[in-house]
Amino acid sequence: MELLRTAVNRVGKSILCAITATAIVLGGVSLAAPIKGDTAEKAYQDARKIYYRVLGSTRLREDPKNWERIIDRYESIVNSYPRSRRVPYALYMAARCSARLYKDTHNTSFLLQSIRYFSRLAGEFPGHHLADDALYYTGKYYQKLGNVEKAARAYLRVMENYSSGDFYARAREQFQRLPKKFEKLEENYKDALNSILALPLGKDLKRRWKTAAERFGNHSTIVIDPGHGGKDPGAIGPRGLKEKDVVLKIGHFLADKLRKLPNVKVVMTRTRDRFLSLAKRAAIANNNGAELFVSIHLNAIADPSFSGVETYFLNLTNDPRSLAVAAKENATTKENLSDLQLILMDLLNDSKIKESSRLAEIVHGEFFTLLSRRMRGVSNLGVKQAPFYVLLGAQMPCIMVEVAFISNPVEERRLRSRDYLNLLAEGIYKGIKAYMERVSVAYR
Ligand SMILES: [Zn+2]
Repeated sequence: MELLRTAVNRVGKSILCAITATAIVLGGVSLAAPIKGDTAEKAYQDARKIYYRVLGSTRLREDPKNWERIIDRYESIVNSYPRSRRVPYALYMAARCSARLYKDTHNTSFLLQSIRYFSRLAGEFPGHHLADDALYYTGKYYQKLGNVEKAARAYLRVMENYSSGDFYARAREQFQRLPKKFEKLEENYKDALNSILALPLGKDLKRRWKTAAERFGNHSTIVIDPGHGGKDPGAIGPRGLKEKDVVLKIGHFLADKLRKLPNVKVVMTRTRDRFLSLAKRAAIANNNGAELFVSIHLNAIADPSFSGVETYFLNLTNDPRSLAVAAKENATTKENLSDLQLILMDLLNDSKIKESSRLAEIVHGEFFTLLSRRMRGVSNLGVKQAPFYVLLGAQMPCIMVEVAFISNPVEERRLRSRDYLNLLAEGIYKGIKAYMERVSVAYR
């Protein structure tokens, strides 16, 4: 982790921090996909109509309240229809209207608001045709606010990631006008990317991704990764129970169950209490040519009454709690995570996200169904996404299951019972089995 940390430290963290901050205001948004019906489209068109009405009338235009109302409209589209294809457009319009409010009122908080919308657009929809516009304006507004460094980083991102886009030339021109010391940033960004690629996991990031059909031929290798171990205890319960010991037991139960399936080979990243780096875990999976990678963890949070199960797959996120979980499991800070996110944006493989999210959905569904049938009051925290370092280098669908909250005293007591651990393993087992049955005809 140390190497990664130093590598990414040099990369711009500011922009993604801003996105994280926005997430608190706007709520999380998942992957964009068309939604059923066209209520989102209607809401968008309504907002647009109001926008043009205000724009077209001198009287309406001059009242800041009207612009704020339009921004509210667009923001409610973002919040109410997170899967709508209109979300990036709504963010763009909210950002533009905020900038307009700044022009009229000279109140810099509107400029910051605009930056937040634009940053969110660029961060969550990096492939959208408005992403480079958004980044470019982020740079312009930071410059206006006197934050030259953040401006430089924004221009640089346009130049690095959207070199064929229509904002490349403008970003470059602005960047070159900035004080000389920021030229170094350009080098730093490339260095950081190269450092990530030079990590033990780095070469794996560039490996070809196997299709599901190739993946489940005659036999399947499943890697079970009990989190933490050795000098790293993971989370510790109020009565001293350690995450590393609990997840190892669950891992063994799970391995025993999976080994009974025909044509399944099971590899455990660790079979005893020993320390293993995150990079090593993914490397074990890759070197074994594994088809699936399942990492088992326990959650922890300051509130002792909190409980529930959640399953993660690797992706960018803006959800503050997912980021906190990722920071804990990555043994890093939330701030360093924003750097990791920035780099992930360039490296994430679409099929990996898709297959991992499917694996996560199926495993989580089976796991939760079994658990809620046997235990009372289990809460379903759902499938989430976050940048987990251990999942980054694995060249196969991979997930992290946070099976329980060790910080909850009731849960901690349950986690001492073999029957309960066996039940948790059974839930994951059912999920993996269901996933394999669904993706592989050959397996059946
Ligand atoms: Zn953990």
